[in-house]
Amino acid sequence: MFEYAPAPESRDVVDIKPSYGLFIGGEFADGTGTSLKTVNPASEEVLAEVAVASADDVDRAVRAAREAFGTWSAMPGSERAKYLFRIARIIQERSRELAVLETLDNGKPIRESRDVDLPLVAAHFFYYAGWADKLQHAGYGADPRPLGVAGQVIPWNFPLLMLAWKIAPALAAGNTVVLKPAETTPLTALLFAEICRQADLPPGVVNIVTGAGETGAALVNHPGVDKVAFTGSTEVGRLIARSVAGTGKKVTLELGGKAANIVFDDAALDQAVEGIVNGIFFNQGHVCCAGSRLLVQESIAEELLDALKRRLGTLRLGDPLDKNTDIGAINSAAQLAKIRELSDLGEAEGAERWSPVCPLPDKGFWFPPTIFTGVAQSHRIAREEVFGPVLSVLTFRTPAEAVEKANNTPFGLSAGVWTEKGSRILWMADRLRAGVVWANTFNKFDPTSPFGGYKESGYGREGGRHGLEAYLDV
Ligand code: NAP
Ligand code: MG
Repeated sequence: MFEYAPAPESRDVVDIKPSYGLFIGGEFADGTGTSLKTVNPASEEVLAEVAVASADDVDRAVRAAREAFGTWSAMPGSERAKYLFRIARIIQERSRELAVLETLDNGKPIRESRDVDLPLVAAHFFYYAGWADKLQHAGYGADPRPLGVAGQVIPWNFPLLMLAWKIAPALAAGNTVVLKPAETTPLTALLFAEICRQADLPPGVVNIVTGAGETGAALVNHPGVDKVAFTGSTEVGRLIARSVAGTGKKVTLELGGKAANIVFDDAALDQAVEGIVNGIFFNQGHVCCAGSRLLVQESIAEELLDALKRRLGTLRLGDPLDKNTDIGAINSAAQLAKIRELSDLGEAEGAERWSPVCPLPDKGFWFPPTIFTGVAQSHRIAREEVFGPVLSVLTFRTPAEAVEKANNTPFGLSAGVWTEKGSRILWMADRLRAGVVWANTFNKFDPTSPFGGYKESGYGREGGRHGLEAYLDV
């Protein structure tokens, strides 16, 4: 492997305050509850102290959103669009600052926050800004109305991108929002709050309440919330579905996944290897639609695995702020413990574990890229979401067997198909029970394209024209 000199991105572009309050009604205000510390998972250094919003704080935020709703929803769409365009442009202008802050708080490589997360965040705001004055042409009636106040709860794997997926369509459709970022990654949402002020967004249209699960529960259960949007674990998704049942609140749930990445013997192998690496090692595998199950046709399994292992030997794990880094830190000690537990179980259940030689830094939370071969469909590493850089490899002989194995999961979020034949791609896509099927690529996102799951992966779609439906009374 080549040796590279360190090429760290400067963290001087971000100004992290020692402590943060809540963003309610356009102002930063102290919370009435306790506080929590957010750390840099690559060093365990405390970055800042952040308020934990109490039920009273959540109530104030929901009331601020309600108060703002009248004016915001009555504003012509073309005027709302101006605010969204302005936010999108400020995000572009401040993208370096946002990318560095995201990497510090989350642990993802700067190469990804800079080249994937931030461009997509800006693209989402630009895209939904374009819809704000065209809602009557979206296919949801002649005069579609917003729902009111949206309570939005997001996870830590793509903090700012999940915020964009939630806030951009809600605002374009004329709703106001209260958003709760994840406990371990609140900082970019708080910088976004500052951007809302910079854009002169009317007070109360966006409110940010930080905190942990309890704050999230207070938000989704608040009677003043008309719409609940959640991305996270299936377990919490189930709790939320149960608690809002019968309340008349509209709900979208984006939950976990256990995607099959299926490689046929006629696939371009080098490209497939890149797609497999991108599918499971992008963002340390903290991706709900990650290609965590590799299904490879038996006749090429050995050749493909050799090539994959060679490629893994070239991945660089380490300082997320280094521009050469491919694999950053695991987001939290809790997530690292979960990845270790499931990986140890994989070995105990009889699968064979392999990692390249990969020294881990002394401080912080790290897990090497890992492959399991000899995995049976019944193994827990083949069924449960590891949410880490761990790939389970299974084989198949016929297309029908590939479909059967791919669909043999309680989830149904995404899938990948690698083959030279267009007809086979269509045949497979017809049969795979997954919200997104990528062909000869993986983990490609675009704001114009709807995203969402089947079965235990949740319901509702985000992105595209479809994403507006969740925020309109249709
Ligand atoms: P999680 O507990 O579902 O967290 C998602 C969000 O919901 C966070 O903001 C969380 O707050 C909040 N929350 C927790 N309990 C809540 C409740 N009872 N009511 C309302 N909101 C609540 O997920 P996690 O603990 O971060 O990760 C656990 C597993 O979920 C992962 O290992 C992975 O398998 C899966 N996951 C999936 C996705 C996805 O994109 N589909 C994303 C992340 C995680 P706190 O952050 O403060 O707990
Ligand atoms: Mg953090």
